[in-house]
Amino acid sequence: MKYTVDKKGFYGNYGGAFVPEMLFPNLDELEKKYKKIINDIDFQEDYNNLLKDYVGRPTPLYFAERMSEKYKSKIYLKREDLCHTGAHKINNTVGQILLAKRLGKKRIIAETGAGQHGVATATVCALAGIECVIYMGAIDIKRQAPNVARMKMLGASVVAAESGSKTLKDATNEAIRDWINNPVTTHYIIGSVVGPHPYPDMVAKFQSIVSKEIKSQLIEKEGTDSPDYLIANIGGGSNAAGLYYHYLEDKKVKIISVEAAGEGVESGKSAATSVLGKTGIIHGSKTLLMQTKDGQIVEPYSISAGLDYPGVGPLHAHLLKSKRAEFMSITDSDAMLAGLEVSKLEGIIPAIETAHAFAAFKYLDFKPNDIIVVNFSGRGDKDLNTYIDYFNL
Ligand SMILES: *Cc1c(COP(=O)(O)O)cnc(C)c1O
Repeated sequence: MKYTVDKKGFYGNYGGAFVPEMLFPNLDELEKKYKKIINDIDFQEDYNNLLKDYVGRPTPLYFAERMSEKYKSKIYLKREDLCHTGAHKINNTVGQILLAKRLGKKRIIAETGAGQHGVATATVCALAGIECVIYMGAIDIKRQAPNVARMKMLGASVVAAESGSKTLKDATNEAIRDWINNPVTTHYIIGSVVGPHPYPDMVAKFQSIVSKEIKSQLIEKEGTDSPDYLIANIGGGSNAAGLYYHYLEDKKVKIISVEAAGEGVESGKSAATSVLGKTGIIHGSKTLLMQTKDGQIVEPYSISAGLDYPGVGPLHAHLLKSKRAEFMSITDSDAMLAGLEVSKLEGIIPAIETAHAFAAFKYLDFKPNDIIVVNFSGRGDKDLNTYIDYFNL
């Protein structure tokens, strides 16, 4: 079984580039050039320097002693929450801004839902001195005011998408329309392992720094480079792709992908794509997504904005169907309790997305010598209001 993308942009049955004909030239340029650019020695040097001095890499692989005691195994946290801007998303945007410069682009566009990817994009545009336009649903602009303010401080224009449900899907449509109209000047930064080929592969490569670092860190700490379990939360699947990347062929390593069940898989308010998803096309890619009988996308729900996505990237659809990864669906209430538990046991407040991965522990059967690595995808500061309301803090 192969877990890398094939020439046509597929992972098994999933992936490809299903876009309007008007986008063919944009994607064609990217697909012809991306591998050559990112494998270039100069690019690698610039990328690694920024990861080190700007993002703050390598991030620690932290042995969580009190959690290990509680769950009777050896639990390590890969501290992506310590990255500049507080999550893993910057690994990808730093890579894409360097790519955009080498493609000769003068302008960046992106779409954002909760605003996390918008902030990571606005950050690297400020760093590079490149114009930045972020599309965001009008309703999300109201709901995510602090992130809108951050983007503006960083110099980005935030454009409201006023069509449809005025959320992420509509912002994506606006961004695609912009890209069709500005193919020569503009690069479109997608924030997860989703979208048409070559985006899922490109974003996975930029996030693969996570598992690359874990390999050498585990050798130092445990004398082996393979853990028994890798556990990550899945929205589109970029932090998970980074955690798994260098372990996909190593079958001894069990992979657990944790998605959001919202109020319950059968409640009608969830984002549990592995259970509810059917094959379809979303954001230009063939993958699993939640849809009605006649193919309309079902509005997803999760208390965590980063997991509130109706599909998963094509790599993850392939990992699920080929049984390389085991998927678990975690409810809002399990995730919130896990977020509180991690805070109290380790002194680290996780993003609610990240908390979903920890909530899986009580359903798993670890052995005392098992080495578990969890991707600590982000810090919880952005979620403080949700924690306050939920627990009456
Ligand atoms: C955006 C986000 C996620 C979910 O996105 P993926 O592409 O699935 O990684 C998870 N955790 C945090 C902290 C995020 O900001």
